[in-house]
Amino acid sequence: MSDVFDNLVLFFEQQIELYGNDIGLILDTTIDEQQSSFSPLAWQESASLHELEQTIKTCQQCALSQARNKFVFGGGNPQADIVFVGEAPGADEDRIGLPFVGRAGDMLTKILDSIQLKRTDVYICNILKCRPPQNRDPLPDEIATCKPYLVKQLQLIQPKIIVCLGRIAAQVLLETSDSLTQLRARWFSLNEMKVMVTYHPAALLRSTGYKSATWEDMKRLRQLYDDIKGQA
Ligand code: SF4
Repeated sequence: MSDVFDNLVLFFEQQIELYGNDIGLILDTTIDEQQSSFSPLAWQESASLHELEQTIKTCQQCALSQARNKFVFGGGNPQADIVFVGEAPGADEDRIGLPFVGRAGDMLTKILDSIQLKRTDVYICNILKCRPPQNRDPLPDEIATCKPYLVKQLQLIQPKIIVCLGRIAAQVLLETSDSLTQLRARWFSLNEMKVMVTYHPAALLRSTGYKSATWEDMKRLRQLYDDIKGQA
């Protein structure tokens, strides 16, 4: 045992002689590469949601990876006609690793229920896959780094309709700085997909004043969904 220890000490002394104080950095990098299967390019070739999730779940492309407990990819029906997109995981999502759990998640389930949809009928995800500290707004560089994963998710799911939950999801997906009030009650086109904007379920928990507007949005959503189903 003491021989092993002595050899280790000798090894580190030689490395410090060769690399000076940079030895710590070299060792850290080695450990990170061993722990992470993430490849900055491989994920683009993913042929399924499962493959994409497996390829990016150890992503460390932005600083949010440092404080996350769980990477939150998304969940639901991988062939859904409707995808709901929120902003980023919150505390409950970060703890459990699933999107829209906790009180806001319960509210989203109720909203879906109001138009006879189940969570298993739709797909639910966020712009960011890791939680910003204290639920602060995502930073522009975090959005720029993480958004391509969402774009790939949407390419794989090929939904007919996207519902943006809240201002930030809407502004990021529609690439606009318009307010939520300006963006609501309209349909947008994004490639072949129809996009609508409504309140984030957490906003309904803060103020019941948003409920009637959300109900109007959901009726519009159900109408288009039925129209699409009728054409299929
Ligand atoms: S937020 Fe997105 S880009 Fe940043 S570490 Fe998480 S998965 Fe990677």
